[in-house]
Amino acid sequence: MSEGAPSTPHFGAAHGRAGRGLNPHLNSASKDIVALGVAFAAIIMFVGTGSSVLVSIAKSLSGQGVGPDKLLTNALLLNIALIIFGWRRYRELTGEVAERRKAEEQARFLAEADPLTGCLNRRSINQAADCMIAQASERGEAIAFIMLDLDKFKQINDSHGHAAGDRLLCATASRLAANLPSNALIARIGGDEFACVVPFDPARPGQIDQLIEGLIAAIAKPVDHVDGELETTISAGVFRRDPGSADDTQAALHHADVAMYQAKKRGRNRYCWFDPAMESELKFRAELESGIRRGLPAGEFVPFYQKQIDLETGEVVGFEMLARWHSEKLGMVNPEIFIPVAEDIGLIAPISESLIRQALKDARKWNPKLTLSVNISPLQLRDPWFAQKLLKMLVEANFAPSRLDIEVTESCLHENLGMVRSLITSLQNQGVTVSLDDFGTGYSSLSQLRLLPFDRIKIDRSFVASVLDSPESARIIESIISLGDGLGLPMTAEGIESQEVLDRLRELGNFKGQGFLYGKPQDAEVTAAELAQLDLLLEQPAVVPGAADAIAAEPQVRRA
Ligand code: C2E
Ligand code: MG
Ligand code: MG
Repeated sequence: MSEGAPSTPHFGAAHGRAGRGLNPHLNSASKDIVALGVAFAAIIMFVGTGSSVLVSIAKSLSGQGVGPDKLLTNALLLNIALIIFGWRRYRELTGEVAERRKAEEQARFLAEADPLTGCLNRRSINQAADCMIAQASERGEAIAFIMLDLDKFKQINDSHGHAAGDRLLCATASRLAANLPSNALIARIGGDEFACVVPFDPARPGQIDQLIEGLIAAIAKPVDHVDGELETTISAGVFRRDPGSADDTQAALHHADVAMYQAKKRGRNRYCWFDPAMESELKFRAELESGIRRGLPAGEFVPFYQKQIDLETGEVVGFEMLARWHSEKLGMVNPEIFIPVAEDIGLIAPISESLIRQALKDARKWNPKLTLSVNISPLQLRDPWFAQKLLKMLVEANFAPSRLDIEVTESCLHENLGMVRSLITSLQNQGVTVSLDDFGTGYSSLSQLRLLPFDRIKIDRSFVASVLDSPESARIIESIISLGDGLGLPMTAEGIESQEVLDRLRELGNFKGQGFLYGKPQDAEVTAAELAQLDLLLEQPAVVPGAADAIAAEPQVRRA
């Protein structure tokens, strides 16, 4: 079978059910028999009447008789007509029946199979696997329920088009079929999700490990496509159902799905066996997902602000906005928990945009010398309209772009460098500055740093926190400082928690800094109250005559 083309159905054990569905043909088949019977009776009568009529005709032609009896001749002609009619009717009916059978086969195929790949579909795998469970229990066999999901399939669809996505799905189905035993069931049960059901010897689960390792390796091989090669990987979850277990197909597939989710979480392109502890984690994840969906329109995502300080003078120079989720059910949730989920379910951009809008509104009440830093996800960097959207928000909030700093993490640099570069440049053209966050954790190279025109580097808090105890951290900080100095980039040290760390950092170089020593992130109200005490809160928000001009009007600083 050629890869990538809609294939012959991989029905596996479903073949055994092909005997179903013949009853509708009985009626037409009996009509066939009646038509055939009429023709057959006519032939017998033809033989009976024909013999005497033909003999009389022959005798009359040779001048020995008076010719055939008229009645018999008519009967003979009627017989001939019946034979022709019966035969034609028989031919017509058999044609009709064949066509109907074909249409019914097609309808059954469509009901049981996925039309793109020819695999079983979600409905039919349930029936077929139930059958397999019954057979395997009798034979004392275990069954491996395997759920497989292509990694980052959406990206392939988005960047290469749906035809490429379809091709990859068909190739995946073919490779599954080629690598699984012939009695296995294979189904496509969702967009890029496949389920396989494989009986095995309960004493040799290693067979299944080998099988899945083979599947993962086969699917990782590139697939030819019109504009080059497509590459993907697959994550899998396996559930072992032993003979005598109470789990039915649905429960077994659900357990395999839970294990598959773990495989994704552990870094994709791998497989995991189901473990009951995974279940509660998945429940929590589902709760997070539905909570995030509900929380966004309900305004549960709020900005908190953490002070940024000039370490030399001790003055507040700005704030970093850090997202918080005030979940009705779960209480206050930190971004490290909800941001990866929001990214997965495609809601990071609307959440971030709503937070940035609120933050711009809050920051308009601060002294305009204070900057506002916001973190953005690598997914937002991929949006070609991001810079335009940000400009629109700045104009709507009447906020000077020069006060805004965008923080991107090092992980963004693994993406398309050209795209990241053009986005950074267009943000900078609008007057916004761009900082590289969590520097030191993501292995960005010197050449990447030179290529991307960042305005600032933020040293990751893990190095700062351990600067006193770990000579290695101190050395890393020193080399980041010399790198920053070499590139002419100012630096911010994150995570300053103690006076000792601050003193050490001051010895090392000239930084901006932030950390619990100066204050934990606070909500807008507490932040405003603190600023009021420092004489840094405006009575009236500064009016910016055209934010795009980036010219802030004279501030009216409120005296404490
Ligand atoms: P980040 O940008 O590196 O933010 C700094 C994190 O360090 C914050 O955690 C902050 O509360 C914490 N932190 C600050 N000072 C100290 C300290 O002295 N000691 C310790 N141990 N921690 C300190 P938070 O608020 O939990 O944020 C975690 C991460 O979530 C942020 O790391 C950022 O990458 C991400 N994040 C926060 N808000 C957003 C957002 O709106 N969008 C996106 N895409 N990511 C966000
Ligand atoms: Mg940050
Ligand atoms: Mg950071």
